[in-house]
Amino acid sequence: MKNESRSHCRSPRQVCAEGDNDSLDTVRRIENAFFDLSRPNTAPRRMLVEKLAELARSGEAFSTDDLWQDLRAANGRIGRATVYRSIEQLVESKVLDRVELSDGSHKYRVCGGSHHHHLVCTLCNCVVDFRECLSAQKFEEIGRQHGFTVNDHKLTVYGTCSRCLKSGGK
Ligand SMILES: [Zn+2]
Ligand SMILES: [Zn+2]
Ligand SMILES: [Zn+2]
Repeated sequence: MKNESRSHCRSPRQVCAEGDNDSLDTVRRIENAFFDLSRPNTAPRRMLVEKLAELARSGEAFSTDDLWQDLRAANGRIGRATVYRSIEQLVESKVLDRVELSDGSHKYRVCGGSHHHHLVCTLCNCVVDFRECLSAQKFEEIGRQHGFTVNDHKLTVYGTCSRCLKSGGK
């Protein structure tokens, strides 16, 4: 993955807490998502699964183009549309999380299956997940105050990551 901000993010400190323990499980979840969609297990798809497993281990967030460029470097035959469609399918199957960056654009991340939220660095766009959350009761109460029945929520916290702080916020 080529651009500066991404390589900048490859600190072991920022590796997803669910990384290695869940990586086998992650591969299975990715494969199942494709299987459920009755897609053939073609070579480009195999490559995609392997690349996503690698990204699950590193906890790195990526854009459609980042992933496409990487796969293309390894095998020139994969089309952007295939990568794009696969990402959309994996988001629907909840294998990938779509994370909104502070500038309104977004990246994807292979996260663990359990409930979590994201911290996003506004300088380098790295993504870290965390488990803290409000109680279901609290969400119900917030909803009730405004006449809502609460079904779901997303929470993204923006800030400066430890690496960016160390390098003087640049
Ligand atoms: Zn996530
Ligand atoms: Zn950062
Ligand atoms: Zn939550």
